Amino acid sequence: MKVLVINCGSSSLKYQLFDMESETVLAKGMVEKIGLAQSLLSHSVAGKEKYEEETPVKNHNQALSLVLRALLHEEHGAIGALSEIDAVGHRAIHGASTFTGSVIIIKEVLDTMKDLIALAPLHNPPAILGVEACLENMPGMPMVGVFDTSFYQTLPQKTYMYGLPYEYYEKYSMRRYGFHGTSHRFVSRRVTELLGPGKKVITCHLGSGASITAIDDGRAVDTSMGFTPLQGLLMGTRCGDIDPAIVGILMEKENLTPAQVSDVMNKKSGLLGLSGVSSDFRYVEEAALAGNQRAALAIEVFYQSILRYIGSYIAELGGLDALVFTAGIGENSVSAREYLCRKLAYLGIELDEAANSLRGKEAEISKAGSKVRVFVIPTNEELMIARDTRDVLLGRL
Ligand code: ADP
Repeated sequence: MKVLVINCGSSSLKYQLFDMESETVLAKGMVEKIGLAQSLLSHSVAGKEKYEEETPVKNHNQALSLVLRALLHEEHGAIGALSEIDAVGHRAIHGASTFTGSVIIIKEVLDTMKDLIALAPLHNPPAILGVEACLENMPGMPMVGVFDTSFYQTLPQKTYMYGLPYEYYEKYSMRRYGFHGTSHRFVSRRVTELLGPGKKVITCHLGSGASITAIDDGRAVDTSMGFTPLQGLLMGTRCGDIDPAIVGILMEKENLTPAQVSDVMNKKSGLLGLSGVSSDFRYVEEAALAGNQRAALAIEVFYQSILRYIGSYIAELGGLDALVFTAGIGENSVSAREYLCRKLAYLGIELDEAANSLRGKEAEISKAGSKVRVFVIPTNEELMIARDTRDVLLGRL
């Protein structure tokens, strides 16, 4: 079975074509700068030279048609006919309380995705454009929607409710939804493969966006992101948890509109806002090592926010069997993992320094006999989407 995975942003379309028997990537790439004068297709096929094309691409529909041409191309293609693709899996972002798992996209599902735009005004519209582009370019192709939020539909109500007047929950569906669920689900499945079922696990997705999830026997019981991805850890440019009273006070003092405050909290805060150096962890770390005090502070605040969540999730889970690091910082930062594991040594974590010196590879980084086992597990959201697509089609999900 071959599955094409599509992940659309407002001006980009990323894709990967999987062979599901071997779970290998046959082709992958992206169209960038959709809607601008010159868009760029970069396309790689296993065993062939990378192909790039600069051409105007007006919309996601044209972007997909460019991708399909590349996939079918005699020289740099990966398939002989579109009929070789069995299904398309879409990164469908926000499924609210409606989608508790991945689903075949039929008209009613697409309509519901449109109804949910109010909850994810930035992320759901491009996902919908991706679905519509497939309907246009690949009529009749089975499509599956994989929602970032569905993993969190197992959260108990006491965990997802905010302490606001109940009417706002009813009127605006205001509750914790959680995001990055496809990534947390992927790594937690891998932990189950490694350790067997019934384990209490905390997964740390530390990238430019960052979140932590508490998982009990494969089911999410709490997560740090909330109604939007702004809640939780300090991130590259997002502030994470703050006193909510600050929002109104900032609007008054700085004479800002709600949209402007949102912009400050989403795009100008976090590592960037505190350090004044960059949103990229590597540059902030470099600056801190060179003596920049604010950069060092930004990293301390980031680590502190992680420890705070890990501590509270251990209390919620009533113990911990495994801690997992994933995404850009989690997979690559030896120093971040070392700092956090040392702070958590009281749990009985014994760090294996040699194993921790690896970057970007799956590894158990705790010593044999460590009371809590610690893993680095590279995330692979595209593969998770491809697996779901296969499983939904085969009636396994
Ligand atoms: P996203 O997919 O959300 O853009 P990623 O998961 O790619 O984010 O993570 C990006 C983050 O990972 C950046 O802050 C970057 O600095 C960090 N990162 C990548 N490589 C390294 C590394 N070798 N050491 C430390 N941090 C790294």
